[in-house]
Parts: sequence; structure tokens; C-alpha cells
Amino acid sequence: MTATANALSLDEFWMPFTANRQFKQAPRLLTRASGMHYASDDGRAILDGTAGLWCVNAGHGRPEIAAAVADQLREMDYAPPFQMAHPLAFRFATALGAIAPEGLDRIFFTNSGSESVETALKIALAYQRAIGQGTRTRLIGRERGYHGVGFGGISVGGIVNNRRAFGTLAGVDHMRHTHDPARNRFCDGLPEHGADLADDLERLVALHGAETIAAVIVEPVAGSTGVLVPPAGYLQRLREIATRHGILLIFDEVITGFGRLGTPFAADYFGVTPDIMTTAKGLTNGAQPMGAVFCGRHVHDALMAGPENAIELFHGYTYSGHPAACAAGLATLDIYAREGLLTRGAALAGHWHRAMMTLRDAPHVVDIRTIGLVAGIELDPRAAAPGTRAFDLFVDCFARGLLVRVTGDIIALSPPLIIAPEQIDAIVATLAEVLRETD
Ligand code: PLP
Repeated sequence: MTATANALSLDEFWMPFTANRQFKQAPRLLTRASGMHYASDDGRAILDGTAGLWCVNAGHGRPEIAAAVADQLREMDYAPPFQMAHPLAFRFATALGAIAPEGLDRIFFTNSGSESVETALKIALAYQRAIGQGTRTRLIGRERGYHGVGFGGISVGGIVNNRRAFGTLAGVDHMRHTHDPARNRFCDGLPEHGADLADDLERLVALHGAETIAAVIVEPVAGSTGVLVPPAGYLQRLREIATRHGILLIFDEVITGFGRLGTPFAADYFGVTPDIMTTAKGLTNGAQPMGAVFCGRHVHDALMAGPENAIELFHGYTYSGHPAACAAGLATLDIYAREGLLTRGAALAGHWHRAMMTLRDAPHVVDIRTIGLVAGIELDPRAAAPGTRAFDLFVDCFARGLLVRVTGDIIALSPPLIIAPEQIDAIVATLAEVLRETD
């Protein structure tokens, strides 16, 4: 235990998605952050291989964002968003509309990725009802999907540990995931095999009837489950099937949004435009909790019906479009534009991919998947203890000054988009060393 940890009472804070009892025996504490690095409480520099939690895309400690938030809090700390507004929310929505994929420029503000997902699912249901398709109440997700922790999100999600203790909504079904290690491994580019897995949506239409299905939601690149890159042509095919059956397509871009793949959004990368897109994280560079749901005009406009004094959507949050979050978001977009960060990943993706692939023959590595500035390195699990090998590696990396993320036995990497090529090499060098020493 460090001196800082020793001075704290660790019992009261119930930590999220954490092995609380294990953590509190040997806490890992971060106390400062700047650029590509955190500092641990014992003063060590930690290279950030995960942009915090896929969110600090412009790097840490950006003074412009801090100043914008502080100025806004001094000017006006809070304004109610129901039947009232403040200028920054409009300005931020307009700025987001300008970088949105074609036509997705009607923006609903939330406070997190989970709330963006709940909002998108509710908008999809309300849309179908508004256009006279009220029997369309079923929501389709995908195995291994992660869509946050709300009841809608865990219901369409497909990660069993996030679901088994809680129960899920009725009227949800799932397509198969796209991971096919027998045919796609160590891919150079998009996996070649598996576009036909999009036909699962067709199968679910045959099973349930299109007239019962409101929307299908997928992560364009599945992140939390351990980086699954979609097979070439898969998302195009899903778009085509959804359109043909009047099913709304929702892309959950909470991690792929804001430059992660080397394009502003994954929709741009794949050339596929969904009807609704959920975002959060990089929206404010992680500096304020905020999410945004980008809706196609057709979706929005269908709901702008009825008498003009009627509230069109009975949904919203006390902190939707919070002034400090909008200020952080606007300052973040300025940085992204000035430094070209929404497309910088494209220039680095080749180096990133080649560097990661040098780990191909490292001990325990069974697959490596990369796209843009994302990588998943899959390890062979220990026979009787799945997940422990990657977790041990995560702890060792932290001890050696590198922050990675692990999910099961997969290492996931997603650094800030300001990363230098030498820092990519440093991540790989540390991983190579730790893999060699991990049993
Ligand atoms: N959707 C996706 C694809 C995510 O990766 C995440 C978080 O990692 C979420 C939703 C939930 O976001 P939050 O943790 O902000 O609620």
C-alpha cells in the first residue's frame, strides 16, 4: 500500500465494475494527468494506452477545456433544460451537426453512453409509433454487444455477466456475434469472412415478423467485449436488410465516435449511415460527463407532429445539455479541429497495426485485431482460471508504467489520438516484456 492509500478509508466507496475486495488490498490510484501520461499516487509516470476509458481522445489536462468549464460555471452554473434553454446547448448541437454523418444532425443530449443508448432505443420505439407502426416494439441486439448498463442496454447487450444477475427486458432478440477465430485471425484489414452473419437479421425477421421489430443496435466495432472488427461488407449488408424491412439501424458509437478509427465516426469509416447514432466519451474529451444521440432528420421530423404546444418526446434528463458540459464539448471540438485529431488516427493506423503485429509470436498470444487506433490482443486463457492471465498482465503493466485495459483474456488498447509513433513502440515494448514474463 502506498502512503496515499494508507491515509484513505477504502470501505465506503463501492467501486463500479471492480473486484472491490481484491482492489482494496492493493489499490491502484491515479492522481494527476497531462498529455499522454497519468501519474500514480506514488509519483510514477503511467503511459495511457486506453485514453482513460476510451474517452480522453485529445490527451489529458487540456487547459482550453478546463478554462471553458470554469468560465461557464462562473457565468452560469446551471439552467433547466425543460421548456427552457441556454445558447451553448444550441451552439454545441449545431457544431456537432456540422461534423455528423450525412443527415444525422438532430441531437439529443444525455449524460453518459448508457443514457444515450436508453434514449436511442426509446426514440426508435416512439418513431415507429409516430409513423403508424406501433406493433414494432421488439429491439434486436447482438451477442457480445455492450451498450452500457441501463435495462435497455443490458437487454440488447450480449455480455452474460452484465445480464445474469438482473433480468432483462422482454421483447428483445440477438443476432450472432461476428467473431470467427477459425477463419479470421491476425487479419490485415477487415476480416474477410462473415459478412453473411448480417443475414441473422433476416432470420429474426422470418422468426418474429418485421412488423414486430423497431430497431437493431450494434457497435460498428465491438469494444468492451474485446475489440471485434466487423467482417468486410457486414455493416453494409445489415443496413440494406434493416432498410428493406423498415427497421431502424442504430450504431452505438460511444467508443468509435470522435476519431477513434481515423474518421470522425465509424459511420464515415465504413460508409454506412445509421438512422440513429449514440455517442458519449470523446464528446467532451472525458472532461465532463455527457452523451449525445445523433438522429436522422426523418426520425426527428416524424416526431415533430401533433399540436405545436404538445411535448413531442416525453424524455430528458435534468442535466441534458448541461452548460459546463456544452462548454467542455465546444472546447473539445475546437481542439479536434485545430489539431486534426478526428482524422489523425488514419495516418497512424499503419504504424499502429504493424507495431501490434510484432507481438504475434509472443507467448500466449492467439489473435491480434486492430482498426484505426484500437487494438485487441487475445491471449490463451490459463486452463482452470480464465481471465487471470490478462489481469496479471494488466497489473504488471501498471507496475511498469503502462495503462492497458483487459476484458476476459483480451488486452484492449485505445490511446489518446495525440500519441506519437515512439509511444506506440513503447506500449508494444512493455507488452512484449510483460508477456515474456507472464506464466
Ligand atoms: N456503449 C458502448 C459501445 C460503450 O463502449 C459504453 C461504455 O464503454 C457504453 C455504451 C456506456 O457508456 P457509459 O459508461 O458512459 O454509460
